[in-house]
Amino acid sequence: MIDCIFCKIINKELQGHVVFENEGVIAFLDIYPRSPGHTMVIPKQHVSTLGELNEKSAADLFRIVGKLSRELRSKLNADGLTIGINEGDVSGQTVKHLHVHIIPRFLGDGGGSVHSVVNNPPKESIESILELIRKP
Ligand code: AMP
Ligand code: ZN
Repeated sequence: MIDCIFCKIINKELQGHVVFENEGVIAFLDIYPRSPGHTMVIPKQHVSTLGELNEKSAADLFRIVGKLSRELRSKLNADGLTIGINEGDVSGQTVKHLHVHIIPRFLGDGGGSVHSVVNNPPKESIESILELIRKP
């Protein structure tokens, strides 16, 4: 049995502020919101990384990310959104159950762009990085 706070929300052992739920996906408000409407969208399957999901489960997850993105923008009158996943300790992932953050953004909210999370440009050429990634 995995001791996971998000699995407990899925199993209703812990109360979540659930904004959406279907067979494979649940979305709830972040308990420490970084902006009004900060929402976590998660698969019901316990995985810690996006790459562990099969194609259908990943598509199901992101269909709901898209739907909630539209709804959060219109219902909260947000000017934009930041959508992101912290994957791995190095990125600041504290809960090891995959979750997509949807963070509504408002003019003058003082936040940065995704570029502000790291500034570690490669020492190698872009071409050599491309070669590594494209290698079968
Ligand atoms: P991360 O750093 O990407 O792993 O983010 C984990 C997020 O989960 C944080 O933003 C927390 O505020 C949020 N969180 C932790 N516990 C709960 C909970 N019980 N209900 C809702 N959100 C939570
Ligand atoms: Zn879990």
